[in-house]
Amino acid sequence: MADLNTNVRYIKGIGETRAKALEKLGVHTLRDLIGFFPRRYEDRSVIYPIAELPVGETACCRAMIAAVPTSRRIPGGRTVVKVRAVDETGTLDVTFFNQAYRQSLRPGDSFVFCGKVEGNLLRRQMVNPLMEPDGQHQLTGRIMPVYPLTRGVSQLLLQKAVRQGLDACRELLPDVLPDAVRMTHQLCYVNYAYENIHFPASFEALAQAHRRLVFEELFLVTCGLHLLRSRRVDVAGPMCRAADMQPFYDALPFPLTDAQRRAIGDAVGDMTSSRPMNRLCQGDVGSGKTMVAAACVWFAARNGWQSALMAPTEILARQHYENLTPLLERFGISCALLTGSTKVKERRAILEGLSDGSIGLCIGTHALLTEDVQYQRLGLVVTDEQHRFGVAQRSALGQKAENPHMLVLSATPIPRTLALMIYGDLDLSVIDQLPPGRTPVATYLIREDKRARLYAFVRKQVAQGRQVYIVCPAVDQEDPEGLKAAEQYGRQLQEEVFPDLRVGIVHGKQKARDKQGVMAAFAAGEVDVLVSTTVIEVGVDVPNASVMVIENAERYGLSALHQLRGRVGRGAAESWCFLVSDNTGEAVQKRLKFLCSTTDGFAVAQYDLETRGPGDFFGSRQHGLPTLQIADLMNDTRTLHAAQSEALAMLAEDPLLQAPEHALLAAQVQQMFDKAGAMN
Ligand code: ADP
Ligand code: MG
Repeated sequence: MADLNTNVRYIKGIGETRAKALEKLGVHTLRDLIGFFPRRYEDRSVIYPIAELPVGETACCRAMIAAVPTSRRIPGGRTVVKVRAVDETGTLDVTFFNQAYRQSLRPGDSFVFCGKVEGNLLRRQMVNPLMEPDGQHQLTGRIMPVYPLTRGVSQLLLQKAVRQGLDACRELLPDVLPDAVRMTHQLCYVNYAYENIHFPASFEALAQAHRRLVFEELFLVTCGLHLLRSRRVDVAGPMCRAADMQPFYDALPFPLTDAQRRAIGDAVGDMTSSRPMNRLCQGDVGSGKTMVAAACVWFAARNGWQSALMAPTEILARQHYENLTPLLERFGISCALLTGSTKVKERRAILEGLSDGSIGLCIGTHALLTEDVQYQRLGLVVTDEQHRFGVAQRSALGQKAENPHMLVLSATPIPRTLALMIYGDLDLSVIDQLPPGRTPVATYLIREDKRARLYAFVRKQVAQGRQVYIVCPAVDQEDPEGLKAAEQYGRQLQEEVFPDLRVGIVHGKQKARDKQGVMAAFAAGEVDVLVSTTVIEVGVDVPNASVMVIENAERYGLSALHQLRGRVGRGAAESWCFLVSDNTGEAVQKRLKFLCSTTDGFAVAQYDLETRGPGDFFGSRQHGLPTLQIADLMNDTRTLHAAQSEALAMLAEDPLLQAPEHALLAAQVQQMFDKAGAMN
């Protein structure tokens, strides 16, 4: 007898040729086949009287063959069979191309026909309709699934194959959801769910089926992530003993926020436990994540461990270096900066310091990953702004030592339940509080016609000793769409608009040294107006800057705009963000105005999620986690919460799913994650 892993070619009615076609869609096994969900549905449940068939649309009718079919051959060796079908309201002319066997249709037999209604109100026709004997119809007279297709696979082939698949596995589908959970949440049985997600008996049945399958998927994923996490318990991380953090806190120029202290507490707790830390620290721009990292570095150093801090850009790495060095060296923790532009001689000295253990913290870019970088006792790896790094890079750095503690800092604030899904096996700390005394950045959407006033405003701010960012989407050469380009625009501003001010230009195509020079000058207050591309998006900290101008603001997602805006408003002084856009599209206007209405990063992320979907977040998601087949994290949040809390309650009783009644469930979870390559 077949099981769910049987190749579809062995399923009755499918066979070799169709199996080949299905392969193109990634459908190999019976399980794949029934798990290949429709993209949408077509309501064919209405059976029209012939006289009411809507011309121009696809519709069904029930009709009797009224006469012996006629057939003739046409050029090209094709056969045309024509037949007349009737009901009490009218006549339907049916034409079949290349279906010679239709000649044997017998007058008096009744069928359900389904096809595009052609002709006119007096004479309706169908060409090559789908037809099934009346009373036995499976693919007509009902709500039909519409599957995503690929070349060489027709809708009908899939519909028929899935029908066969469902018939073949009626007895085989295990119900992995515990009965109690199914009842509490009024979820239908698994057979009913699969039947009705493909061939719904009604739209209510479809909704039931959908809810059950979404719940099941999220339940399974939650179990899987939990298992992944619990596997980490077995390995020991770099040993750390609890220590009084007060000396570190005392060295800071400001008291930490409660949220920062909580995050530090979480991290230090991890580092003193028996397993390596694997924590994501999430907080809005400006929430002070760097201090959490610094506290961990300090704590690791107290325990004799070296740390590495990896930043996505050289500018940011340098800035961390400049901020952290004075703080940490006071405690005898020597810091080094290692980037692509570190000179050979200096680099050699750093490598030596890392391998003999005299350097306590190495800050850098991808350069930290190169093979010749060896640490004596690497105990902690911090990656800043994780969405710029792949997981592969994070773990490459991790491999520089055996199971070091890992801390990931991210400024993409997303709802907790979603974060759990997206970052999977990471524990999560959220910094949901900004340091006190920040004045929200006043944000305005402005058109080209206000440009002169904008420049006047910039000039006024500079006159008051403040500094200004102007961000453009392109690097050089005005592109055909008329986007502002940093290089040209910067020069134009210097020459024509602000000849008396100091304008600096920075973008990704510059040499690292030039970039650094400009950034350093800006940080030192020697540049008034910094024209740049988004190289400054991530993390740069110049508290004296009070104005952020974003040109062609329509080009950016809200989260990116929010990050950019976060470059100002870092002190108590008033600050401004101007979104410049002449785009009048309704959606664009709405999006940009939303940003003007709030400075809450979570609200911004939520809005982005709702309007653009979680695609952006998933673009950067951890590799190796299963892709969701049916659940939609945005629209199924209620189900997500319910499924997560049920799964966690069950796991609290049986953390490794070892109870006999969970065997099926455990197997299914394993299979789901194996397929994604996460549990090897
Ligand atoms: P982000 O979370 O965006 O990385 P940073 O760590 O760069 O934020 O911190 C933003 C600014 O806030 C820095 O200038 C930092 O010195 C300052 N800061 C951090 N924590 C506090 C605090 N508790 N009180 C006051 N200022 C703080
Ligand atoms: Mg930062």
